[in-house]
Parts: sequence; C-alpha cells; structure tokens
Amino acid sequence: LGRRLNSALQSVSASSSIDEQALDAVLKSVCAALLESDVNVLLVKRTRERVKKLVLPQLEQIQAKQGTEHDAMAGNKAKQLIHKAIFDELVALVDPGDDAPPAFNPVKGKTQVIMMVGLQGAGKTTTCTKLATHYQRRGLKVALVCADTFRAGAFDQLKQNATRAKVPFFGSYTETDPVAISLQGVQKFRSERFDVIIVDTSGRHRQESELFDEMCQIQDAVEPDMTVLVLDGAIGQAAEAQSQAFKEASDFGAIIVTKLDGHAKGGGAISAVAATHTPIIFIGTGEHLHDLEKFSPRPFISKMLGMGDMAGLVERAQEMAMANPERQENMMKKLEKGEFTVRDLKEQMQTIMNMGPLSNLTSMIPGMGALMGGDTEAEAAKRMKRIAFIFDSMTTEELDSDGALFRDATPAASGKGKGKGKDKGTVATTGGAKGAKGKAVATPKGAAASDSDSD
Ligand code: GDP
Ligand code: MG
Repeated sequence: LGRRLNSALQSVSASSSIDEQALDAVLKSVCAALLESDVNVLLVKRTRERVKKLVLPQLEQIQAKQGTEHDAMAGNKAKQLIHKAIFDELVALVDPGDDAPPAFNPVKGKTQVIMMVGLQGAGKTTTCTKLATHYQRRGLKVALVCADTFRAGAFDQLKQNATRAKVPFFGSYTETDPVAISLQGVQKFRSERFDVIIVDTSGRHRQESELFDEMCQIQDAVEPDMTVLVLDGAIGQAAEAQSQAFKEASDFGAIIVTKLDGHAKGGGAISAVAATHTPIIFIGTGEHLHDLEKFSPRPFISKMLGMGDMAGLVERAQEMAMANPERQENMMKKLEKGEFTVRDLKEQMQTIMNMGPLSNLTSMIPGMGALMGGDTEAEAAKRMKRIAFIFDSMTTEELDSDGALFRDATPAASGKGKGKGKDKGTVATTGGAKGAKGKAVATPKGAAASDSDSD
C-alpha cells in the first residue's frame, strides 16, 4: 500500500499545475491503491469525497492568486494541501475517535483479566505470549491460561511459547470444558496475586454459533477487564463482516492486527476499526516474541506512506530503559562524567539487541529502511552477534577500560574472533568488527524495492 500511495503522491509533486483535474487523477490512484489493499469500498468512496470537498475550495483560492504569486510556489502549496488532506483522512480511518472505548492500561497491584478472541489461525496464541512479554517488560506479573480445548495441540503450543518467554501458564490435557479450565486458571493466578492474566481461547468450531456460545460462557465465567479481537492482517474484505460479528457476540474493546510483516494488505485492519469503532492497540509484525508494536494512527499512516516512525523508536527505547531504570540512570551519570567504559558499550549494545529484530527498528527510522536494503538485516544481526562474542571474550580489565587500547589497532589485521585476554588478537578483532560496522551503515543499498515495512 505504501508504495502505491507514495507513487500517487509523487505524481502530485511531478505535475506542475494543480487543478481539479489533477486532484481527481491523484485521488483516483490513491483510491485504487486503497481498494487494492482491501479497504472497504464504501470507506474508500467516503474518503475520496471528503478529501475533495476539503481541498477543492482551497485549491481554487490558490489558483486565484496564481497571477500574483510565483506559479511554482502556488503549485507547492497545492501539493502540500493535497498531501495533508490525504494523510489526515487516512489517519481518521484508523482512528475510531471519541466514541471509542478508553485505552486499556493494566496497572500493578490488582488483577486484570484479558481475554483473546478471534478465528483459528488469526494469531491469538502467538499474540498472547507477545502481549505477556510486553507487560512483563513493564514490570507486571503476568500469566497465561489456555482455554482452547477444541484443537489438539493447542495447550502444547501455548506451553512452549510461555516456557520460552518465561511466563507462568495454566492448562489441561484432560479437562475438555473450556469454561471450567479458564475459571480454574484465572482463580489460581488471581489468588497468587498476578497483575495480568491472559486467557487464550479457541477459534474454530463446527458451527460459528457454537464458537460464539463458548466465547460468551467463558466471558461470563472469567469476567475479563478487556476482551481483545485478534485479526489476521491478511483477511481482506472479510474483515468488516467478521469484526462486526465478533463485536456483537463479545463486545471486544480492542483489536490487535497480526501478520502485518508479510505481504498482508493492511486495508482489512482499517475496515475493522471503522466497522466496530474500536481502536487497534498493537500490531503483530512477525512470528517472534518481540514482534509486537504499539499502534497509534498517525505513526501507522506515516510509516505506511514511508515517512518513518521516530515516536515508535523513542517509545521502544524508553520501554527498555523502564525495564531497568537504575542501570539506565547509572549509565547517564557515567556519560555525563565521561566515564564510559567498554563494559558500558557492551550493555548498551545488549539493550539494543533486546529491543527486537533490527528490521523493526530500522523501519522506524526515516530513510533507514531503504538504507538497509533487502537482505542486510540478517547480516547486521550477525555482525551484532559477532561483536557480542568479542565482548564476551574480553577480560575484566579490558571491559572496564575506556577502550583507548583498542583505538590504535589496525582494522586491516582482522582477527579470528576468539582472541583471549590481552593479546593482540582481541585488539585486532575489535578493530576489524568496528570497520565492518561502519561500512555497512554507510553503504546505501539503492532503492529498497523489496522492503517489507512499506506494506
Ligand atoms: P491462533 O489459532 O489464533 O491461536 O493462531 P496462532 O497463534 O497459532 O498463529 C497462527 C500462525 O500465524 C502461526 O504460524 C504463527 O506463527 C503465525 N503468526 C501469528 N502472528 C504473526 C505475525 O504477526 N506475523 C507472522 N508473520 N506470523 C504470525
Ligand atoms: Mg491458538
């Protein structure tokens, strides 16, 4: 979608005179892109009408002045106008506005139950663990309950994910009543004073009515503070009907859209928000634990249009700092005093590595996604790991030094990576790695045609 919209907007920048005809042409191609991305037909039509109604009178004003101003200046103004109007309208599409339920922010010190609903394969089980990890990082005590007794292997999947994420879980191989299991699990973790209990449910039944019946029964039993609809980002035009059906049955208060990393056309997500007046709270951007991003309308749209998401990046960094506030504060003090050691560098790098896949981070930095190109993500991650190994092989003395002894090392004498202690091997390896890092950042990979973040 991003690519199509971008080229539509670029065609505005290319044409010199902007009149009603030019506006229509741009809107036509923007709408085609939206439709192709599975945004609901009526929504697209409404967007087009709104932009036109908004822009046209101002366009006429600009044109009336064209005799007095430089044509180029008038043209630029018109382009900005159209650009802004389209941006605002797209934001409005994913922003449910004032009638949306208030934001849900679990707090420490009381038990809050979150129930996940959605069709089989939407990504509920995966997202449960991602969400648990997210809240855990914020210092909350989180547990998972598996209430999917319909699909064989559902409990094993949750168990595996939870174990990997070090999140306590509850489920059963023998109990077949999902209501009983969820109630037991929630009661158990409630009595153990967990802050957040996430209940994973089943997504498929022989009949839709059975699924909705079960969902309502579990809801009545565990009384969730928040019900979350998990929606497959690739669902397309079916999103509207599906989200509406779930809304009527479960009255969910938030949406998480998954699989926005692949070739998913995010348009379904947009339609679901519009159909249910419910905000998207997170998006899933991969199969791994950390592939969960906080959603907010403006950054989502600007990222879609390829403008980067600095706010998201800052938030991610703050999150990491919050996970270990003392360490971060110590670091700041040290920096102020100019006492930054190799060990500090190592810790900072670890923090960055913990922030999740590099591609997620680079796509938040304007222009960075293009710079990284297609397959360099894996290389960059590998490079980071290599540097981490080098740090691990350093002596205490080296780690606590200011790194001055490495500065004279010649990058050409690249080491074999496992230099031990204070010998020259370690020194040379560090120099070599530094060189490699610098090179990768400075090498633009040309047009990042296959960049996944623009979808
Ligand atoms: P459930 O049936 O709703 O519980 O769905 P699952 O959590 O089992 O997920 C179904 C499939 O989608 C699994 O293979 C997941 O790895 C995959 N999946 C879930 N979320 C994402 C995502 O954000 N990105 C990608 N690429 N795959 C995802
Ligand atoms: Mg599942």
